[in-house]
Amino acid sequence: MMTTDEMTLRSEMVETCRKMNSSGINQGTAGNLSVRFGNGFLITPSSMPYDTMQPEDLVEMDWQGTFVGPRPSSEWRFHRDILKARTDVNVVLHCHSLYATSIACHHRTIPAFHYMVGVMGGTTLRCARYATYGTQALSDAALEALEGRKACLLGQHGQISLGKTLDAALWMAIEVETLARMYQQALVLGEPPVLPDDEMERVIAQMTRMSYGLGPEEEGASDAARPRLPGGKASGGPVSPAK
Ligand code: 13P
Ligand code: ZN
Repeated sequence: MMTTDEMTLRSEMVETCRKMNSSGINQGTAGNLSVRFGNGFLITPSSMPYDTMQPEDLVEMDWQGTFVGPRPSSEWRFHRDILKARTDVNVVLHCHSLYATSIACHHRTIPAFHYMVGVMGGTTLRCARYATYGTQALSDAALEALEGRKACLLGQHGQISLGKTLDAALWMAIEVETLARMYQQALVLGEPPVLPDDEMERVIAQMTRMSYGLGPEEEGASDAARPRLPGGKASGGPVSPAK
């Protein structure tokens, strides 16, 4: 029997998935989303379009990878490993947003060409080395690139954004995409200058002090305040570790 709290969380996850599509950061069956829950987490099912996905389609997994429900996202390993290691966040969002992925296709780390890079937690937005989708190697690479950060690019794949809340993770993913787009545009005139480390230290200290840029979790920002971009399988019963 599902509690009301679980039903609410599942509905909020479906809503966030649909916002991933409507904001322009996701399309088709790419992308996945997880939220810390119970003795593990809830995660989107593999290759199910978000417009037809229902709250009951979300998969409940434990830290061993044992699951209840439809087949979980092929990327359950990095969702599990990030949620396990990063107790500062509750939500992991992955997508193949166009500009972030374009930069990641060149394995470029985004430097502090703009102060908003600081919002991800450091002087760079790192790009994780390439590994086959769905593998432990990809999870290991992602966790490394996320060290001290709330987001990273995935080489020749996409991006991962983290947050304490669903809104915060979505906000971060849109910021990553916006920065990647700006960086690509700035590169048209040549490699842009990079803000020095001491300036980025000031920026990050100021952001921390003002709770700025940490997303709606601290800001209480509404949907209307959020930046906008231009722009499916079911079964039941516990199943032991997903492949
Ligand atoms: P899933 O549909 O299995 O979540 O895979 C989408 C994806 O983006 C794989 O990296
Ligand atoms: Zn992917």
